[in-house]
Amino acid sequence: MENRYDLVIIGAGPGGYEAAVEAGRLGKMVAVIESGEVGGTCLNRGCIPTKALLHSAAIYRDAVTSSAAGVLSGDLSVDVAAMHARKEDVILKLRRGIDYLLKSGNIDLFKGKARICAPDEVHVDDGGTGKTIFADRILIASGGRPAIPPIEGRELANVMTSDDILSRRDAIFSRLAIIGGGVIGLEFATLYADLGSEVTVIEALDRLLPVMDGEVGQAMAAMLKKRGVKAIVSASVDRIEDAGGEGLRCCFTERGKAQSLTVDGILIATGRKPDLEGLFDPGLGIRIERGFITVDEDFKTSADSIYAVGDVTGGIQLAHAATAQGIAAVDRMFGTDVRVDLSTVPSCVYTDPEIASVGLTLDEALNRGLPAKASKYQMISNGRSVIDGLERGFVKIIYDSDTGRLLGAQLVCGRATDLVGELATAISAGLTVQQLASVIRPHPTYSEGLTKAFEAAAGSMEASR
Ligand code: NAD
Repeated sequence: MENRYDLVIIGAGPGGYEAAVEAGRLGKMVAVIESGEVGGTCLNRGCIPTKALLHSAAIYRDAVTSSAAGVLSGDLSVDVAAMHARKEDVILKLRRGIDYLLKSGNIDLFKGKARICAPDEVHVDDGGTGKTIFADRILIASGGRPAIPPIEGRELANVMTSDDILSRRDAIFSRLAIIGGGVIGLEFATLYADLGSEVTVIEALDRLLPVMDGEVGQAMAAMLKKRGVKAIVSASVDRIEDAGGEGLRCCFTERGKAQSLTVDGILIATGRKPDLEGLFDPGLGIRIERGFITVDEDFKTSADSIYAVGDVTGGIQLAHAATAQGIAAVDRMFGTDVRVDLSTVPSCVYTDPEIASVGLTLDEALNRGLPAKASKYQMISNGRSVIDGLERGFVKIIYDSDTGRLLGAQLVCGRATDLVGELATAISAGLTVQQLASVIRPHPTYSEGLTKAFEAAAGSMEASR
């Protein structure tokens, strides 16, 4: 039969295309359906464009402050259009890489909007006559989109989601309010503060980055304050008004008191929701809970031949988690050994300094009844941190005080997002603080901070014997 595959995957983001490559590696006939560009949110509207812009903004910040390092620069300015052009260049290069991966894996790519009509049938609306694809199994990896709370005035010009602001190559917004002090909110706060904007973050809960360890949020609040970002916590936005020639008025209630703020742009960064619009024909009976597709430990939905991974399933909404789930789902559906460890997922925030976290926080470990302890090293004495002016950061590790096994880590320091890979490896391999303390790490590097935290933990265990 025409268009018959072992597996059809809906969505060519990090969950979908990596799953396709894995299935191709296993010798399966695979098709991928994508309505936009390959690479998904991560490459086109998320991780990559944000980090490309953060890279430009960091160069600008370094140049502005370079005299302290003995480098004198002339008049500096930002060319927003050029910054965005470079961002697009980066995206294009990486997109070509994914196209190549799919082609070399003999994976068929169909462009259009997918609709699952039956447990083995998907219709592709390509704007023309459309196509019907049959497959033994279907994997949904259609990702998510910004969730917009019902705030009055959210439809006004210059009230944006992260998708919108990433495409604004015309404006820097000299006064920007960000609703939501989570990951997206703080990355954009860093970006715009570095470009010289006056940034205010409005967070509903009582601290920034509420899903992370409390000390991380506190450290971030102090560091953002130092670079001029105002963070207002325990505040809810009531409405947004057009302030005439003045811009936008953001009206909010902070600890029971009505307040307002006049700005040029407002970014809504209050979370994301799954992209399921038009995906299912009625009668398929796919179980959805609180908007997310329910899956079992094999990533199977309530329909036997239909699987789902990544942001559509809720849980950890991270590109690398979606990739690992996509690979694991394919390995499980075709009965081979799962080659990824799904239990350890690092999470990173690309602020300055960076934030990274993996495994358990101290509270989480204690709540599970583990004999957990924390060892914290302040980067104030770390050579690399002092050289780079990032000595206010810290490294905190959580370990089992009976066995010495590393349980988790939270980092606020230079290159935290790279350092966390070593810690994820250590947790996944069940390494102890004694083993980790015995490793020689190069000098002068941020990684020496890890040695110090491991040494203190190993010393504390030794002393209590
Ligand atoms: P988030 O859940 O991290 O943060 C949203 C914040 O908005 C929360 O702190 C919440 O309390 C607050 N909030 C919600 N409603 C509010 C309201 N009405 N007023 C004020 N505050 C409100 O969500 P996000 O930052 O939008 O990110 C979405 C997802 O994308 C997350 O899962 C995140 O991990 C992921 N992401 C990851 C990265 C990365 O790994 N570097 C980058 C971007 C996004």
